[in-house]
Amino acid sequence: MDDAISILIVDDEQRNLDALEAVLTDPSYRVLKATDADEALRLLLDNDVAAIVLDIKMPGVSGFELARLIKGTKRFREIPIVFLTAYMMEDQDVLAGYGAGAVDYLTKPVHPQVLRHKLSVFAELFRKTRALAELNATLETRVSERTAELERSEAALRRAAEQKDAFLATLAHELRNPLAPLRTGLDYLVHQPAPTPAIGRVVGTMNRQLDHMVRLIDDLLDVARVSRGLLELKRERLDLSAVVREAIGDLHPVAQSRSLVITSSIDERVAVDADRTRIRQILGNLLDNAAKFSPAGGTIRVELVRERDRAIVRVTDEGLGIPDDQLDRVFEMFTRVERRASTSPAGLGLGLAIGRQLAEMHGGSLTVQSRGPDQGATFALALPALPHETAPSVAPPAAAPRQSAGRLRVVLIEDNVDAAEVLALWLEDLGHTVSVANDGLEGLELVQSVRPALVLCDIGLPGIDGVEVCRRVKAQIGDGAPAMVALTGWGMPTDRERTKQAGFQDHLVKPVALDKLREVLDRVVAARESA
Ligand code: ADP
Repeated sequence: MDDAISILIVDDEQRNLDALEAVLTDPSYRVLKATDADEALRLLLDNDVAAIVLDIKMPGVSGFELARLIKGTKRFREIPIVFLTAYMMEDQDVLAGYGAGAVDYLTKPVHPQVLRHKLSVFAELFRKTRALAELNATLETRVSERTAELERSEAALRRAAEQKDAFLATLAHELRNPLAPLRTGLDYLVHQPAPTPAIGRVVGTMNRQLDHMVRLIDDLLDVARVSRGLLELKRERLDLSAVVREAIGDLHPVAQSRSLVITSSIDERVAVDADRTRIRQILGNLLDNAAKFSPAGGTIRVELVRERDRAIVRVTDEGLGIPDDQLDRVFEMFTRVERRASTSPAGLGLGLAIGRQLAEMHGGSLTVQSRGPDQGATFALALPALPHETAPSVAPPAAAPRQSAGRLRVVLIEDNVDAAEVLALWLEDLGHTVSVANDGLEGLELVQSVRPALVLCDIGLPGIDGVEVCRRVKAQIGDGAPAMVALTGWGMPTDRERTKQAGFQDHLVKPVALDKLREVLDRVVAARESA
């Protein structure tokens, strides 16, 4: 039977073997018999032996020598050996036997019950060891099955996260397309005298809501980029006090509408090596939140200090505060602190997640402290400060918007008819002449016939895409080719590289800020005047 336990008996005399076998007759034992060392070793190799009964006195290899061989072999080392001896043992024989790895001695004639008892102990030990080994093997199998299962679910999670990021990126991009004409159209309307005060107010409201929507979509795009490691920082030496002041300035209209008081304490000499837009984004979110979660009439305190080699901006409010157990969670994506519904302003729960990642990309941190619900909160943005010696260069004041000088012939190639129409309207308002095409080939023909100074060209176009339009314009017109500017929803470095390679001199991301476009127009005018 399979579960039988093998006992090896070794004796040069066949009749001794038979006698021992008779003593050990038991259905739970399988008795293996060997008359010499060679046979014993062969049987050991072929069987999983629980114990060996070994005659000491054998011609050729003696019992002690065989025991030494067995104990010297890793696979057999643990097998207990009982020596059989025909005469009383002298002390040195006993020592020699133990040195060879004996577990016990029995003198002949063997007392059957004693032998059976001794072997039953070894058999039991063997059974337990075998059961343990089996258990161990089962456990190992289960562990490797569980590991494989975990790896599978981890891969599935990773795939799902990647799909989510890709979905967010596409969603945000697709949402930007319809926003572009709305942005341009509203920019246009905001600068027109309103026919009635009511229309003026409506346009103002639409403008603010659109700003908000653009911010939300930008957040979605940022999240997708940050998670995929695609966000790049444009670092420069920044006067942090100026950036903090600008961010506070942006908050004033909201603060006024809710009678919030903003106090500040700003160290003027703190410079950092950072991406201006991204730092504005982090601070903007902290200040917006402070206002959003403050009671009307509350105070928001902004502090900029240098602490050793760190520049620290702290924004403290007296608002809803954050319970202890949620302090760290507010930095997770799509997380909002649970509160009574009536006191919970809306939001996607992305700003702080993006803020912390951006801070860390700068080698800094974004942390929060709060004494609890209704006790206000303090958010701290820490960034590595630049050394004092090299005084921070004062940030140039934002260029005042000005009317473009000169008039240009412009060809606008854009398949979104609404976007094309409002942009054309705006350009014409500045005094430029605009011809519009809604697909690539039509655009190319228009450029040939109109010979414009500037082509504003969408990239994703029916027929041939904007990149191909640009290549053909450059190839067909050569030296006299117009300035080519790409207008596109895609703003990644690789997208910019692609349009640059094709020959575009500028790459504007939709929705295009009209100030940016005006700068481009000015550059084209200036280049023509100096030519
Ligand atoms: P959003 O404000 O768009 O929901 P954020 O990531 O900026 O996203 O904030 C996440 C959440 O953290 C908020 O919904 C709010 O519950 C909590 N929170 C952020 N700032 C404050 C603050 N100053 N006071 C109290 N809670 C805040």
